[in-house]
Amino acid sequence: MSIRTGLPEGFRAEDYDMVVVGAGYAGAVCARRLAEGCGFKVCVLERRDHIAGNAYDAYDDAGILVHVYGPHIYHTFSERVDQFLSRFTGWTDYQHRVLADIHGTLMPVPFNHASLKLAFGEERGEELYRKLVAAFGENKKVPIMQLREKNDPDLQEVADYVYENVFLYYTMKQWGKTPDEIDPSITGRVPVFIGDDDRYFPAAPYQGMPEQGYTRMFERMLDHDLIDVFLEVDARDILTVDDEHVTVQGKPYGGEVVYTGPLDELFGCDLGDLPYRSLDMRFETLDMDRFQPVGTVNYTTSEDFTRITEFKIMTGQVKEGVTTIMREYPQPYERGRGMTPYYAIIEPQNEELYRRYRDRVDHLTNFHPVGRLAEYRYYDMDGVTASALALSDELMAAHA
Ligand code: FAD
Ligand code: UDP
Repeated sequence: MSIRTGLPEGFRAEDYDMVVVGAGYAGAVCARRLAEGCGFKVCVLERRDHIAGNAYDAYDDAGILVHVYGPHIYHTFSERVDQFLSRFTGWTDYQHRVLADIHGTLMPVPFNHASLKLAFGEERGEELYRKLVAAFGENKKVPIMQLREKNDPDLQEVADYVYENVFLYYTMKQWGKTPDEIDPSITGRVPVFIGDDDRYFPAAPYQGMPEQGYTRMFERMLDHDLIDVFLEVDARDILTVDDEHVTVQGKPYGGEVVYTGPLDELFGCDLGDLPYRSLDMRFETLDMDRFQPVGTVNYTTSEDFTRITEFKIMTGQVKEGVTTIMREYPQPYERGRGMTPYYAIIEPQNEELYRRYRDRVDHLTNFHPVGRLAEYRYYDMDGVTASALALSDELMAAHA
């Protein structure tokens, strides 16, 4: 394999069996599987100056390994995803824990048994907990929007507290809308947990951090004789799509194309921009061993930022006297302003617009959109990996 910057003189896409656009999970998984499974010669075009997509990590000036595009914690229920990724990395046993700063008191999120007692006092908290257990059972996850539908006055009291103090202000900052106004699956990612488990991803059997970081894992995934990676190459400079063909370097391309960028960009956004939320991430290095008690603290009733992450706690890096933290300030995504489209905004009219772009490529038999951007989905790393494994299964079957 090679990773180089720019396309070399004499580069010919037709020398490759597959062109992959994007070197994040979606692209790297497909590249590896087709190189390995079909003997495909694969070129990966990546417009950033690094691999690993939004999972990219790197050492900052203070020597701390940071997640450049926000905190990434690996967690999955999928044995298949775990087995595939574990070929390229070992994992630490890090279990992510998050505390919400609620008017100055730190309480576990997902809101759980301990949070109830902190919020309502020992006795009343226990009483309310028993009511929750009677209504839903123990060790159950209940999305806040579902809890709010209960008529019982005690359950209403809990629901109102959690809605007001955990979800309302954070969601307003993150999405510019109240939890009632966004798709319930979004707040449903962090359900109330009726139990004592205080991990952010309770019950996910596989979780941790890649032992040498995400970028190293991607280096290994892309390390194959048949894979060439070209950084700082925007695929749109050489690749176009119309009703009949995928054209690369001015000629119809006969190989497979795996596309992991935003679909609207391929068409100059001629039907309108697919909306996204972005984040301004502000890093700060502090002369202290440790800044906060857990990897991430969410600010759910105060501050303009949503959360502070301290990387050393997540990665387990040992370095005395210095630590790096990062605050996330949500903002609307504006194309062409150097922002990153981090979150698709899951709303019916946006999904309809996505569908119209998608209809323009679905009949092209050698063009395959996959990943968080290209599928316009709120995927975690494991969801993207699963989607890329499924696509590569199909491509491998077609070329068997
Ligand atoms: P990306 O990682 O976005 O990769 C797509 C790549 O394609 C990019 O590198 C881009 O530069 C490139 N590209 C696009 N267009 C072109 C073009 N025209 N030419 C060349 N290259 C192009 N998931 C978890 O499981 N756990 C977490 O804790 C977690 N935390 C997150 C925190 C934040 C703030 C965010 C935003 C996401 C988080 N995720 C997390 C989700 C995770 O980042 C994604 O699921 C995953 O990285 C998506 O991989 P992808 O390959 O689909 O897309
Ligand atoms: N959320 C919230 N308060 C919290 C945590 C989450 O309101 O303390 C809501 C918010 O709307 C957020 C969503 O739940 O966007 C999903 O949270 P998650 O932590 O999964 O977001 P991500 O890590 O993907 O940014």
